[in-house]
Amino acid sequence: MFTIPFSLRGVDEKGESFETIGRTITLNRHGARVQVSRMLKPGQTVRVINHANDAEADFRVVGPISPPLDHVGEWGVECLNVAKNIWDIYFPPTNEDCDAHVLLSCRHCQSISLQSLSLVEVEVLETAGLLTKPCVRCGDSTTWGYPQRVFEVEIKTYQDAVSEATGGNPALTDERRKSSRKSAQLPVRVRDYYGEIDITQTENLSHEGFCFWSCRNYYLGQGVVVICPFDAGEEKAEVRARIVRAEPGSAPNRRIFGVRYENALH
Ligand SMILES: [Zn+2]
Repeated sequence: MFTIPFSLRGVDEKGESFETIGRTITLNRHGARVQVSRMLKPGQTVRVINHANDAEADFRVVGPISPPLDHVGEWGVECLNVAKNIWDIYFPPTNEDCDAHVLLSCRHCQSISLQSLSLVEVEVLETAGLLTKPCVRCGDSTTWGYPQRVFEVEIKTYQDAVSEATGGNPALTDERRKSSRKSAQLPVRVRDYYGEIDITQTENLSHEGFCFWSCRNYYLGQGVVVICPFDAGEEKAEVRARIVRAEPGSAPNRRIFGVRYENALH
């Protein structure tokens, strides 16, 4: 672990410049996993100044790597100038620096393309579940994640687990849903990698995960941390989970999401 303190300068969404301090958690030739005590925006460019040697370079924020606690979060950043090394560390050229090629789909237009990803991008994709990449069809930078079919097996497993938990019927009919609803409506807290907190209710649940409704939007594949059931008066540990299902709900601004606990994935 290389812990190098640095300053980070950027411009926030309101157009105001900010400066904050951070430290590196891991480093590689082109990028770093860093801990910073403020929210950043995927895709934004920030200036990183190494406190040890005053060397500076522009980095692109790839995305969050862990959900923030008290506004301190971990982020993946990538140096925009690959020839520049501000860390005073020699990185031997290894296979590790090779790009990974991954099929991803744009969450906006659903187009699928083979994207080359850097190490940092792979790390963000594996944890936060989403990346900001340019989309040719959308003509803009959009949110990308694994294609829908990657989650189909998980959804099937989840549905089987729910039907088992609610009485063994292979398909949940409306009648069946109604009869199992009462016991399955539990308060739940969902927190995303940007620190946004959603307190809502489950629709159904099993030991693998649960479905909940929300007025917020979550993307398929997105990483979240959850407390289920949630009780404001009780300290309970958050559990890592992933959005594996996103469907329209009973009202236009109310959608249904399925999450699966991360420890159930492996
Ligand atoms: Zn697109």
